[in-house]
Amino acid sequence: MCDCLFCQIAEGEIPAGKLFEDELCCAFYDIDPQAPTHFLVIPKAHIGSVSQVDGKKEAVVGHIFTVIARLTRELGLESYRVVSNIGEQAGQSVLHLHFHVLGGRDMTWPPG
Ligand code: 5GP
Ligand code: ZN
Repeated sequence: MCDCLFCQIAEGEIPAGKLFEDELCCAFYDIDPQAPTHFLVIPKAHIGSVSQVDGKKEAVVGHIFTVIARLTRELGLESYRVVSNIGEQAGQSVLHLHFHVLGGRDMTWPPG
């Protein structure tokens, strides 16, 4: 079994509140939501973070943004934030590429 938490969620070995899944990616609700709507979208194949994206992996990243646009439309979210933390200083705690999608409340800028 892979020891990466999000690989295990993608494979269905660890349960998560999945709202979407296809052959390339899956979306599931964050276990510790920071907004009324807070879900994560991840590639099924392991990529460490945005810093590991290259020409071979860029298609899945584009696909993930298509999925984000579709899911937020279906959820009726007109305004939302997409965030990906890269590295320890930025607050990345799970070393598998993921995009946070947060919405449903007023947000401030710059982020903390
Ligand atoms: P990061 O801190 O790496 O940017 O984001 C990781 C996110 O994964 C956090 O928001 C955290 O709450 C979420 N998370 C960590 N473990 C689990 C889990 O087992 N299930 C779900 N659904 N989310 C998790
Ligand atoms: Zn992984």
